[in-house]
Amino acid sequence: MKILVTGGTGYIGSHTVVELLAKGYEPVIADDLSNSRVDVLDAIEQITGKKVPFYQVNLCDKKMTDEIFRSNDIKATIHFAAWKAVGESVDHPLKYYKNNLLSLINLLEIYQERNLNNFVFSSSCSVYGQSEQLPVKEDTPLMKAESPYGNTKQIGEEILRDAIKSTGFSGIALRYFNPAGSHASALIGEYPLQAPTNLVPVITQTVIGKREAMTIYGGDYNTADGTCVRDYVHVVDIAKAHVLAIERQISNKNKQPYEVFNLGSGSGNTVLEALKSFERVTGKKVNYKIGPRRSGDVEKIYADTSFAKNELGWKCGLDLDDIMKSAWEWELKLNERISI
Ligand code: UDP
Repeated sequence: MKILVTGGTGYIGSHTVVELLAKGYEPVIADDLSNSRVDVLDAIEQITGKKVPFYQVNLCDKKMTDEIFRSNDIKATIHFAAWKAVGESVDHPLKYYKNNLLSLINLLEIYQERNLNNFVFSSSCSVYGQSEQLPVKEDTPLMKAESPYGNTKQIGEEILRDAIKSTGFSGIALRYFNPAGSHASALIGEYPLQAPTNLVPVITQTVIGKREAMTIYGGDYNTADGTCVRDYVHVVDIAKAHVLAIERQISNKNKQPYEVFNLGSGSGNTVLEALKSFERVTGKKVNYKIGPRRSGDVEKIYADTSFAKNELGWKCGLDLDDIMKSAWEWELKLNERISI
């Protein structure tokens, strides 16, 4: 059964492709390689022993995107492809709105035109903004998104919901909290072309020496130690949730045509707690200083995951220490590869 995975050479995409292959699905990857590398395909083959069909396509080009559907009998799509740097989205909002929304609209138009079914959308906990209610549940009212990136996810969910309402295919939005860590093989991991801005790769790059020191953005928040609280969730757990979402749709187990699930660990950790976890499991010291707050950051957010647990049958098998351990192994392997 062919599943289109847009953004399939990217971070969560590549991990999901591996999990789909493990369950006997036939992923087809579409990616424009604007923030990922083609050698991820070799790594996927090394892990799974399977070669995955790959289309280098920018999804804003509807004609080229449609060509994938013309040549493949696609039974479901997992749509990861999007720009995702919060800070960059503040500086370049139009780039974010154009890319993240046009690609989604093109895919949904193709879904309507070809009468397709089953669509999984990569959403984000950033749709909640700074919620007054914690942990956030899927029906917690959404506050204004803190960044254009977060807004593309809020609008993207609305576009998907409305498209489904008018056509009746089934769609699931998965709201990721803070995905981090890497595959146990250390052959795939977070491998962006742009300098990473997410906490975990910033930590590993600092300790390996690619950066001199790192800054913790804000030490004066209203939290246990003054640093922001996030819900870190292992990327392999996130990838497995996508397979469950696909299975739910394909076997018609969804209760509503459009459903939303939180994907988090269910607990919040401060930035300093995350650093301590890294130091504990690797025995390495992180050189950091506390700096000013970063614009667009919310103070604290973590997930209520009971809906995903009860309905999808999903729960995290890995914790913050596993995240840090695997992220460090990936960084070491990456460094080895670069220095050969
Ligand atoms: N963070 C930090 N220093 C960094 C990168 C991130 O202090 O170099 C903090 C950031 O302010 C936030 C948390 O780490 O509180 C997680 O940030 P990340 O960018 O990984 O994810 P976000 O929650 O913003 O999507």
